Amino acid sequence: MVAVSTAADLACPNCGEDDDLSGRRSGEPGAGSITVSCGACGLSWVRDLSPRCPTCGTDDVRTALQSIVDKSRGTQLSIQSMRVVHLCPTCDAERLADWNRTNSPLSPDELPHDVD
Ligand SMILES: [Zn+2]
Ligand SMILES: [Zn+2]
Repeated sequence: MVAVSTAADLACPNCGEDDDLSGRRSGEPGAGSITVSCGACGLSWVRDLSPRCPTCGTDDVRTALQSIVDKSRGTQLSIQSMRVVHLCPTCDAERLADWNRTNSPLSPDELPHDVD
């Protein structure tokens, strides 16, 4: 499947819903982003209108989900929510392969063993 950055392919990255979505635009016109909320599963994420790899600058990036662990003072460490990240096929090849293989949200960045 080839992802293209058109409005037509906008779908919830969690459940695939492509109809019951609402968006709210923020930022400068032409350079902003849209916060999209899925009415089916409740996920909300920021849709970057022009995602780029921060390392090499390519716009040929893939959309993936990453878990956000809420380290609240509670008794357990639970995965509360997810955010959308953009993976570069060159610079993030390993994480992208991971995403494609498991199709489950990537681990949070805060994990201590960050292997280069
Ligand atoms: Zn959804
Ligand atoms: Zn890159």
